[in-house]
Amino acid sequence: MAYVIGDDCIACGTCIGECPVEAISEGEKYSINPDLCTECGTCASVCPQEAISLGE
Ligand code: SF4
Ligand code: SF4
Repeated sequence: MAYVIGDDCIACGTCIGECPVEAISEGEKYSINPDLCTECGTCASVCPQEAISLGE
């Protein structure tokens, strides 16, 4: 299980600097490496689009 970035991402870049394990990658829409994510939830709390949620 890991957090995932959904279609609402506007590539604002806010989340990438907040991840303590550098699991977030830039792109047209940002993405999270599930092998690195520790489910800390920090990125989800800072995303202005509420685009990040815990995956199922
Ligand atoms: S903070 Fe949210 S909108 Fe901004 S890049 Fe990250 S996922 Fe996308
Ligand atoms: S939940 Fe935490 S570890 Fe996972 S991508 Fe977000 S900030 Fe990084």
